Amino acid sequence: MVELVNVSKSYGKGPLALDDVSLTVEDGEFVFIVGSSGAGKSTLLKLLLREEEPTGGKVLVDGVDLGRLTRRRIPYFRRSIGVVFQDFRLIPQMNVFENVAFALRVTNVSTKEIKRRVPYVLDLVGLLPKAKRFPEQLSGGEQQRVALARALVNNPSMIIADEPTGNIDPAMSFEIVELLSEINKCGTTVIMVTHEHELVSRFRHRTVVIDRGRVVADGKIGGKRARQ
Ligand code: ADP
Ligand code: ADP
Repeated sequence: MVELVNVSKSYGKGPLALDDVSLTVEDGEFVFIVGSSGAGKSTLLKLLLREEEPTGGKVLVDGVDLGRLTRRRIPYFRRSIGVVFQDFRLIPQMNVFENVAFALRVTNVSTKEIKRRVPYVLDLVGLLPKAKRFPEQLSGGEQQRVALARALVNNPSMIIADEPTGNIDPAMSFEIVELLSEINKCGTTVIMVTHEHELVSRFRHRTVVIDRGRVVADGKIGGKRARQ
């Protein structure tokens, strides 16, 4: 479970990036975070990954107050969350298999285990036949599916996706969100920032709207019960 309790974030000058935000995401939820550029969406994700610290309030992930995490624990904490970025962030010199395997190698998983888990997640995202290709030989949608496989291979309880469809065409975007929705149905919490209204209205997941650092709506877009 993710809990933001009266969270504010100031970067010094200018208005608050987040202004007294309280938000709970239960295990197994799928939440879209929407809002215009500069609204505070990236800041929210950075706080969840402990890349930034709030200037007020607290952030808890699975009961752990992130403000109390020691420096030493931070990398381990981050590895427990699967992260997907707009720009994929694949390693160009590594093929698909190696890009995914790399996420396991850094955690000292055995070769035997890597040979078992990597094909499993590649199959899940439909890319097992392209395991030997390099990123530049793949479409944007395919590259994002590799990134998703990499995010999944450590079996995280939560996936954080920062505009994962920002660099891919609409049909492929739909597939990526469909894939995230499938993963979510198996119990993984998904928090996804997006600009794309079409995706939000099509998938009807819980949608949190952020405007100038505040949560201004929280519910299902197009649904009957807004949770505001
Ligand atoms: P995105 O919305 O694509 O995730 P960013 O989070 O990088 O983009 O930036 C969002 C907004 O925050 C932009 O308006 C950007 O100018 C501003 N911003 C990001 N980093 C800084 C920084 N170090 N100093 C000042 N403004 C920043
Ligand atoms: P969004 O992701 O919704 O575009 P951000 O969280 O990136 O919004 O930004 C929220 C506000 O915080 C903006 O006013 C932005 O300029 C500011 N901001 C973001 N990152 C930084 C930073 N590193 N330093 C200074 N200001 C920042």
